[in-house]
Amino acid sequence: MSKFQERQQAIANGSHALVIGSGIAGLLAARVLLNHFEHITVVERDSLPEQPQPRPGVPQSVQSHGLLVRGQRILEQLFPGLSAELIATGAISVDWSADILYFSPMGTAPRCASDLITSMCSRNLLEWAIRSRLTGYDPRSDKPEAYRLQILEATQVKKLLTDERKSRVIGVQLRDRDNSQLEELTADLIVDASGRNSSLPKWLEELGYPAPSETVIDASLGYTTRWYERPTDLQADWKMLFVFPKPPHEPRCGVLSLVEGDSPAGTLRERWLLSLYSFGRDYPPTDEVGFLEFARTLRSPILYEAVKNAKPLSPVYSYRRTENRLRHYEQSKLPEGIVALGDAVFAFNPYYGQGMTAAALSALVLDRCLHQRWKKSQNASIGFGQHFQKQLARSLKTPWQSATRSDRAWLTSEDSMTTTRKPNKMILFLRQYVEQVMLLSMDCPEAHRTMIEMYHMVKPPIAFFQPNIAAKVLIQAWQKKTKPPLFLQDYEPSITARR
Ligand SMILES: Cc1cc2nc3c(=O)[nH]c(=O)nc-3n(C[C@H](O)[C@H](O)[C@H](O)COP(=O)(O)OP(=O)(O)OC[C@H]3O[C@@H](n4cnc5c(N)ncnc54)[C@H](O)[C@@H]3O)c2cc1C
Repeated sequence: MSKFQERQQAIANGSHALVIGSGIAGLLAARVLLNHFEHITVVERDSLPEQPQPRPGVPQSVQSHGLLVRGQRILEQLFPGLSAELIATGAISVDWSADILYFSPMGTAPRCASDLITSMCSRNLLEWAIRSRLTGYDPRSDKPEAYRLQILEATQVKKLLTDERKSRVIGVQLRDRDNSQLEELTADLIVDASGRNSSLPKWLEELGYPAPSETVIDASLGYTTRWYERPTDLQADWKMLFVFPKPPHEPRCGVLSLVEGDSPAGTLRERWLLSLYSFGRDYPPTDEVGFLEFARTLRSPILYEAVKNAKPLSPVYSYRRTENRLRHYEQSKLPEGIVALGDAVFAFNPYYGQGMTAAALSALVLDRCLHQRWKKSQNASIGFGQHFQKQLARSLKTPWQSATRSDRAWLTSEDSMTTTRKPNKMILFLRQYVEQVMLLSMDCPEAHRTMIEMYHMVKPPIAFFQPNIAAKVLIQAWQKKTKPPLFLQDYEPSITARR
């Protein structure tokens, strides 16, 4: 009997949900599905490493991955104690207000202790820790979850199976990587979490449904990362260094972050990840000399000074698929029995570090929609997929707007392929107001904290207008009578590309 036939037998009695992809979005979706289905199967085309290591299906995993505070809080809600486990495994506790030196276009921000804390680690460690929690560490464990959830690794989903009328997806066709035979597995709900290169649009077209329209906003960011040994003799009062770009003419930027060491195999207690970025096709070089030279040309040479004598532990890894890409499933006609989330729907420019937090928020939306569905009658489940995709689009509207608005500052008219359109007075006012808050945050810890809270999705953008900040902004504008340097370009190209 094949592993698929065994699984089909195991799920014969009881409801079954199947997740395509065991990236962060797939794992978190699987976690909330445990609240609603008796059996969960996660199908992953990679063989999964036993230790925190890179794998081919997520080539971005060697790049720096910072989790936002909101994301960390959701992970803790889904897996109580996970943050402490990460720290015990070597992750570094980082207070985003106290432990980080930010070099922004307006200056250097103040630092003070806060509760805006995350466990900084590599993406490899984070994914491994979540996966370990989800599978109960030991498949033979007596934890009920270990029996209810199974990851079918080295298995690729090839297409969707539907009922005769093609109105409901009832399963998937699978291929075991070690055996080219195609087999089938049925499920009551399928969640596509197969990432930026998801085949769902193609599968839908094969079934006679339209592929979703897409919005693509591409600031042509180059993302490069190199791993270093942290010098043991270095005395530093920071755990991360950020050097920001300054639109529209200084696109180069970078971040140096402290992450876990290389145990259990190695001896390093801590390592550094240096990521260098630039917008507008100014791609950082991947050769030894060119990479360091690029670091020296940032608006502050502090990253270069920190790493110039540090011992590299890896080659320079480069990644260029960084466009913001939104597949509008919320506007599409979908068969029943399937939903999509994570990068498969909202793929963000990774520079803003929102992807994993967006995946965590998506899992909560799925949980909420499934709770609502079970409360209603059976018939109410008709239209569940569309209901979920609309709720998802609503929940990720703010991070999407924030990433794409910032990226517009880097778009050339060639990128946008369209005419330039003047923003209205309200947008101009908002931009100038935000610039004033940024300026204020250089001297005012409260404004700085609010900026961090917004960036980390802990507070909504309206927090910029809370009375104590608005009053200080007014006083600042009146006292200095100066306009801050224009941070965003005063045009707004239309960048929507419809398929
Ligand atoms: C360079 C870079 C840096 C980033 N930095 C950050 C950061 O600092 N902070 C942050 O929050 N986010 C960051 N992200 C984004 C983050 O990696 C993702 O948004 C997040 O992990 C959610 O991805 P996902 O799980 O939807 O997809 P993925 O991580 O791409 O996972 C998809 C999974 O599906 C599997 N799969 C695909 N097709 C099939 C199939 N047909 N059958 C079976 N399995 C399949 C793949 O093997 C893979 O395991 C970064 C991304 C990039 C590219």
